[in-house]
Amino acid sequence: MPISLSIPEIRGNEWDYIKDCLDTGWVSSVGSYVDRFEKAIAARTGRRYAVATVNGTAALHMALMVAGVQPDEEVITSSVSFIAPANAIRYVGAWPVFMDADPLYWQMDPEKLESFLSKECAYRDGALHNKQTGRRIGAILPVHVLGHPLDNAIMETARAFGLTVIEDACEALGARYDDGRQAGSTGDIACFSFNGNKLITTGGGGILATDDEAWASRARSLTTQAKSDPLEYIHEEVGYNYRLTNVLAALGVAQLEQLDSYIAAKRHTAATYRDTLSTIPGIAPMVEAPWAFSTFWMFTVLVDAVEYGEDSRELMRRLRRNSIETRPLWQPLHLSPAHAGSQSYHCDVSERLYRDGLSLPCSVGLTEDQQARVIAALDPEVRSSQAGGMA
Ligand SMILES: *Cc1c(COP(=O)(O)O)cnc(C)c1O
Repeated sequence: MPISLSIPEIRGNEWDYIKDCLDTGWVSSVGSYVDRFEKAIAARTGRRYAVATVNGTAALHMALMVAGVQPDEEVITSSVSFIAPANAIRYVGAWPVFMDADPLYWQMDPEKLESFLSKECAYRDGALHNKQTGRRIGAILPVHVLGHPLDNAIMETARAFGLTVIEDACEALGARYDDGRQAGSTGDIACFSFNGNKLITTGGGGILATDDEAWASRARSLTTQAKSDPLEYIHEEVGYNYRLTNVLAALGVAQLEQLDSYIAAKRHTAATYRDTLSTIPGIAPMVEAPWAFSTFWMFTVLVDAVEYGEDSRELMRRLRRNSIETRPLWQPLHLSPAHAGSQSYHCDVSERLYRDGLSLPCSVGLTEDQQARVIAALDPEVRSSQAGGMA
């Protein structure tokens, strides 16, 4: 039986709530589940407002727009990330500047950020500009990577330099700091995703959350074609059709009810991996910062090719022959052909994480037997007996 990397877990009120939508005819982008989902996410993340969208990428696009990022400005974002935030920056005509990850927790490196802002940027006409390109720094868009909250020093540094912070918390719903604050609650606006591979899913969906009433209502307007009159088709500006449907929001409400049990399952899986794998020479499991409560959305290890005797891709292929699905981390965005020519700041850690990183099976529903199979396959003795095996 194959073991998947990560599959959705549907075991709560999903069927009931969706049936309710179908029975009442409220299937489209208006309906009580959209309101319920937005209120529940706002409450959960400690934000005053939330606006649901068709996906997390659309939420990022809207967040950049309401935060007022302008064409030809620059937005500092994480090099170690899924590509969505960099693409969203381009949607508003701005340019990404890729910042490296810290070597311990793999989040945007606060020291490198501070050094970039103080050495490579300068104020002109009251606004921070990149000295090399002459462009204004419009915002910073750090990513909470792999379910672990990003270092809050990023927020402090951004504030010290007067920068708006858009948090990409798409992978980190439910993650928090040791003082109880949720990932996605400490910047100016935050985005979440409910794509099929996220901790909770609506099949496809997203949300943005903020305390700023004007931003929330502008986002609500922009996601519904900026219609300014409830009856007449009058539109004050070019809008988007980005609203989540009621059926999918119903799925989201049901999934959100189970979030804490999902996080508990993920953390249990992570603890078992950490305890068993950290004794294997050359395998370094991801680490939770002392100030963090991670959801361990995607459990990842670094493989030292020399010490372990196999590099991350060889290990990936051998596990595949054992019907175990794993995945490397994302190509660092400063190396992405889609963003060729963009700037980056000393992204050597990102490149090492890409070379050595491998995410292991960690579905919420992963059984103990399945996890034991993964752990056994990583055992150095099993490795040497299977190394170089045929496909
Ligand atoms: C999943 C994800 C997104 C948004 O993805 P969608 O598929 O558009 O919902 C954005 N940023 C990061 C870091 C992600 O992992």
